Amino acid sequence: MATMTTAAARLLLLLVAAAVAVPFCSGADEALAAPTTAIIHELRPRQAALSGQLAARAGIKCGSWRLGVETHNVIGWETVPAECENYVGNYMLGDRYRHDSQVVINEAIAYADSLRLCHNGKEVWVFDVDETSLSNLPYYAKHGFGAKPYNATSFLEYVFEGSAPALPETLRLYHRLHVLGVKAVFLTDRTEDERAVTADNLRRQGYYGWEKLLLKPAAAATGAAGRPQESVVPFKAGERQKLRDAGYIIVGNIGDQWSDILGAPEGGRTFKLPDPMYYIG
Ligand SMILES: [Mg+2]
Repeated sequence: MATMTTAAARLLLLLVAAAVAVPFCSGADEALAAPTTAIIHELRPRQAALSGQLAARAGIKCGSWRLGVETHNVIGWETVPAECENYVGNYMLGDRYRHDSQVVINEAIAYADSLRLCHNGKEVWVFDVDETSLSNLPYYAKHGFGAKPYNATSFLEYVFEGSAPALPETLRLYHRLHVLGVKAVFLTDRTEDERAVTADNLRRQGYYGWEKLLLKPAAAATGAAGRPQESVVPFKAGERQKLRDAGYIIVGNIGDQWSDILGAPEGGRTFKLPDPMYYIG
């Protein structure tokens, strides 16, 4: 009788242990999956989302415009067409933007995993910052999703808050590259006077251990009321060339603008994240 009681007690203990273990493992899985489901901005309220859908249904051309933007057929635009503000807002705040970003990052990780790396400490991946590593969606959600003219003053105020969330998909790539031994280089058209706040913002959002943070000279932005008129391609391509000259091998390059990835040396492979909110030539 005593033996049966002991066996029953053991069984009970096992059942209790199992009951405790399942939620723990489940929780752990959810934690691991968090980067792909993390919220960078609250989703558009139902009513607004509905109006966005109606606008999208009525204005197929906004979808065509966005495709033109992403394929670099529509270039040199200064603002999102007024009739597409709801469409772009709905895209950015709904699931589609995140899903589109996940496709890009999944491809980038598959490519990185396929590389035969020599682990010489010189293999790097170039990351753009805005709308690539950090998301300024909290700002643009309050400023017409790019349908209103760019306001350098208010945008810089936002930048200096240092509160931009990470784009979770890019953070996933960043961490994967870290595991693979590929070093990160941030290359941004933010300027030197924004170095400290940018570095702090990146660290707070989970980026760490980067090889370089390359910014434009502060003087480059002076006198510009809006976005700088000159192309950033010579600057970014020039910085990549300097990396190459210093013995680095750029195995990959990712940005939200074509100007992040155009101009030799581009890198072993380039990846373009979606961004229908603004254009930087
Ligand atoms: Mg960018």
